[in-house]
Amino acid sequence: MPELKVGNSLIQVVQGDITKETTDAIVNAANKTLLGGGGVDGAIHRAGGPAILEECKKLGGCDTGDAKITKGGKLPARYVIHTVGPIYRDGKHNEPELLKSCHIRSLEVAVENGIKTIAFPAISCGVYGYPIPDAAQIAIGAVKEFLETHPNCGITLVRFVMFGNDTYIPFSNALTSLVGTEK
Ligand code: ADP
Repeated sequence: MPELKVGNSLIQVVQGDITKETTDAIVNAANKTLLGGGGVDGAIHRAGGPAILEECKKLGGCDTGDAKITKGGKLPARYVIHTVGPIYRDGKHNEPELLKSCHIRSLEVAVENGIKTIAFPAISCGVYGYPIPDAAQIAIGAVKEFLETHPNCGITLVRFVMFGNDTYIPFSNALTSLVGTEK
């Protein structure tokens, strides 16, 4: 299991089901309506129960690259941070900036809510079609940059929870390639 220490924080890549995570918050790869979908979104709403959707209905959707928070319902995690990844077209429609923004905005919302430990799925790497090795570099690079530039943000653990080997291997490689480059 690869790890990278950044100041007082740890970035990890693990394999598993994010709905079982006991971090303070888990991040959902939602769609702009925030009213539920397939993939990890469907799994989070199934495991967390209807309270999450009830809260989502009051949020008025979410822009691509932004993030909004709800409670975690029946999940072990106390909060769900819903972010909307870009739908991948050709990489020339702001997809890298938007994917980076998902990670930065999720961390900003986490800090605003006193969250210390947070788990991310592979945002945009499912039906939204982002090339996984590129997404891995952007996701992990964004988190590393945020932790380096916010050393007193209070976040101690950022865990990437990868469902299958299709994401676990590229995300592990992206993290390993950064060992030794931390400030
Ligand atoms: P997007 O629409 O942003 O592409 P998806 O939900 O289709 O989101 O896929 C994002 C990633 O989440 C995919 O790599 C998928 O395998 C993964 N995933 C699906 N279910 C889970 C789960 N329970 N825990 C963690 N990751 C999951």
